[in-house]
Amino acid sequence: MTSAANNDAVDNVAERLAACTESGRLQRARKLVGDVEFVIADEALVIAAVAKYNVVIDIEARCIQHGCRDFHGQASTRRLCKHVAATVLALDPEQGLSIAGELAEGADAPRTGVVVPWKLEVITRFTPT
Ligand SMILES: [Zn+2]
Repeated sequence: MTSAANNDAVDNVAERLAACTESGRLQRARKLVGDVEFVIADEALVIAAVAKYNVVIDIEARCIQHGCRDFHGQASTRRLCKHVAATVLALDPEQGLSIAGELAEGADAPRTGVVVPWKLEVITRFTPT
């Protein structure tokens, strides 16, 4: 994949993520993409280390577990912090799009009532070994 095509794909993911975060966070998330280290990234489960935080995206359970202070404050309003957004941006674009799309629909779910929203769970921070 050329980097131009890759940038387009990241733009598409970012566009959908814009529904569940705000633009300042999204900008910071894009800068963090290079710092995302995947421990596991398969169809059912994604575990990543981002800066000094862990992000767990359990796709089967529709659940995101993460522990930064921003996420703690944002989780109740179903908004994403920069670490979670960066993790979704760093995924394979196809998977990133699918997750970002569901999150965006989930952000609307209280209004539309058609989508089961993802759970955002605050976890204690731990240092990956
Ligand atoms: Zn975070």
